[in-house]
Amino acid sequence: MKQFQYIRAANQKAAVSAVSKNASAQFIAGGTNLIDLMKRGVSSPDTLIDINNLPLKSIESSAGVIRIGALALNSEVSENKLVTQKHPLLAQALQAGASAQLRNMATVGGNMLQRTRCPYFYDTALPCNKREPGTGCSALEGFNRMHAIFGFSDKCIAVHPSDMCVALVALDASVLVTGPKGNRRVPFADFHRLPGDTPQKDNNLEKSELITSVEIPDNSFSKNVHYLKIRDRASYAFALVSVAAALNLNGNTIKDARLAMGGVAHKPWRLNEAEKALIGKQASEDTFRQAAEIAMKGAKGFKYNSFKLKMGTNAIVEALKTAAGMS
Ligand code: SF4
Repeated sequence: MKQFQYIRAANQKAAVSAVSKNASAQFIAGGTNLIDLMKRGVSSPDTLIDINNLPLKSIESSAGVIRIGALALNSEVSENKLVTQKHPLLAQALQAGASAQLRNMATVGGNMLQRTRCPYFYDTALPCNKREPGTGCSALEGFNRMHAIFGFSDKCIAVHPSDMCVALVALDASVLVTGPKGNRRVPFADFHRLPGDTPQKDNNLEKSELITSVEIPDNSFSKNVHYLKIRDRASYAFALVSVAAALNLNGNTIKDARLAMGGVAHKPWRLNEAEKALIGKQASEDTFRQAAEIAMKGAKGFKYNSFKLKMGTNAIVEALKTAAGMS
């Protein structure tokens, strides 16, 4: 690993200032992904700005929102009463992520900023446009079993690995950030990017911007929800396909719905058209399958991941059935 300087930031302003003055500096919190990236030579910052002392750990409720500090640990958020009572979908998604040890270290902000687990991204001997723009994408003709079926480009077919983010995009969260130009709010759906011609950029954060919190507006999805994660082993594995499903039911009639997928695109993939197709319908396997077919329109598989097309459809149906209490 390349040698680096370590600085513990005393406050938010000092943290942002330290990163803005040095193009090679990076923030570090839990470090559960960044340290791996540094060990493998994928990321080589010359300075790490430790933000763990900043007051960004609280989880609080106010004026129709729950605000979760960027440094709140994944384990703390998943067990927090406000979260489990108001947004059980988020708690379920967090519990599905990584391992207990990692959830005890990983922060909310870091979870959002984690990099793809495409194996070619981590193998510095092979071409990868995300790691080294212009070198090519080894996954296009390689072993692309874990890769995208939506929103990819000929430059990159990687997926975003987070479970938490799939629930947050479904719940219409916002991301609050601060930077040299001040504070701003980004709708969660606009935070992560599709790869296009610039796959090296995972998200729309600007240089030196720091995530301070995530806000989730109050909603009517505290009961009929389910986060379904399909993976190769029961724990400590990334999703082949995951589905965040939330229903607001009046009897058996669907008053409102939220649906998003993980493991299928370079960003958490919200299924707006499928949601619209559910509203006003009776909760039934037929209704859910029609919505799933709408959701999967436009999906395209590669040599090794075409199984995700059928798996995605079935996962949506299953997640909705479980959310509706039908299975
Ligand atoms: Fe790199 Fe993206 Fe291709 Fe993976 S899919 S090798 S991350 S460019």
